[in-house]
Amino acid sequence: MSSRAKSSPTSRLKLFSKHLNSPSPTSTSTFLEKPFLELNTPFSTERSAHWEDEQGKIIRKSKFQEKIEEKTKEEATQTEQEQSERKQSAKMSKQAPHAALMIPGPIEFDDAVLESMSHYSESHVGQPFVNTFGEVLSNLRKLFQTTDPSAQPFILSGSGTLGWDQVAANLIEPGEEALVLHTGYFADSFADCLETYGAKATQIKAPIGDRPQLDEVEKALKEKKYKLVTVTHVDTSTGVLSELKALSELVHRVSPETLVIVDGVCSVGGEEIKFDEWGLDVVLTASQKAIGVPAGLSILMVSGRAIEVFKNRKTRPTSYFGSWKNWLPIMQNYEAKKASYFATPSPQLIHALHTSLNQILSKPLDQRFSDHKAASDKIKKAVSDLGLKQLATKRENQANTMTAIYLPDGVSPPDVLPSLMKKGIIFAGGLHKEIASKYIRFGHMGVSVTDSQRKDITKGIDALKESLSEVGYKA
Ligand SMILES: *Cc1c(COP(=O)(O)O)cnc(C)c1O
Repeated sequence: MSSRAKSSPTSRLKLFSKHLNSPSPTSTSTFLEKPFLELNTPFSTERSAHWEDEQGKIIRKSKFQEKIEEKTKEEATQTEQEQSERKQSAKMSKQAPHAALMIPGPIEFDDAVLESMSHYSESHVGQPFVNTFGEVLSNLRKLFQTTDPSAQPFILSGSGTLGWDQVAANLIEPGEEALVLHTGYFADSFADCLETYGAKATQIKAPIGDRPQLDEVEKALKEKKYKLVTVTHVDTSTGVLSELKALSELVHRVSPETLVIVDGVCSVGGEEIKFDEWGLDVVLTASQKAIGVPAGLSILMVSGRAIEVFKNRKTRPTSYFGSWKNWLPIMQNYEAKKASYFATPSPQLIHALHTSLNQILSKPLDQRFSDHKAASDKIKKAVSDLGLKQLATKRENQANTMTAIYLPDGVSPPDVLPSLMKKGIIFAGGLHKEIASKYIRFGHMGVSVTDSQRKDITKGIDALKESLSEVGYKA
């Protein structure tokens, strides 16, 4: 790299966006085609104040952007009163005043969940902590609606991504085939993860906003023997919801040995999941999305059938930290309230999860799911009343935990996100690289939905309306 290229942010951005042009929707081996040190990061507004079009050219300042800048100057004179109003409305709890985090994770946290983290230090093998961990594992069974004793919950320190690694390292052996159903960015990454561990990943890609159809999946399953099928329950890059029940039935009927793996990072705790009834083999998630706990825990429910597949491996697991050989006895001991050690868990996060699961399970789960659906319906109606479209066009394809909203023509995320922030609302920019500059994402899960004291949802809708009208958009 020349020193000029190094010092120019524009050329660095260009290099960066080149990394994103990863090839090949269905190829089984993309590795050699990719740059060696590929950045596994999508193009998104959080990363840059600049904006590029699909060709990597910086988009010139739009008339909307200019208007915002004028407006910002105006507002500078009235900030004091405004600020105090904002503080008032942001005072949602004992937490310091802050804009409501309405992105698809991390989400807003409940006070009690946060407070349970300021627990004095405990030994991770002392009985009190072992009891807490054990209760958390039992409660996870309830959250996933499983009563099958052969199913196994896992909680490891790490983020949601570690769930992909666990699946890839424990359930598939080098050279085996995986079918990855693509509804957005997260399937590309899951496929990449599987290939990192030597599996061969084939993707079925749906057009943006849609999901692979059952007949396509059936055809693929009949063509080749797949060790597992992965599906993203809610794809956080597109807001597309997958239908798990019918898909799982299909897999069991057409290819009974194929494991059904669900990336539920943006769905568990907000979308209905019936682990036993739907015949799922792994549902993986993370703490910071609809479960409402700070980031740092990789949470999985694994079926007895998948545990058997793991136990019958011919080769050893291809990860050390993520190996179920190491973790299975630990999880079983914790649930039996027996101390044991493989690697130190995070007592503080386990306490937070304990509190959050107790809150979630104190009400019927059906109620929780219908509350999320009602909030989602309200947002989706407001979006369409505003004359805006979602990435997912059909209601049955639309997630209940988030909404991905196309901005009006000529408006890009940097035109509205800063003004939303001023109104006390944080939304996320686009994440799907082909259309990242055209849409924003509104996360609606957890306490923002279930705590009636909070006005996050209405505030989010009102702020969106105002920010759009500020840039000259009329519904
Ligand atoms: C957020 C997310 C992930 C990644 O989780 P991290 O905690 O960021 O590692 C994976 N899949 C989906 C569907 C997600 O929404």
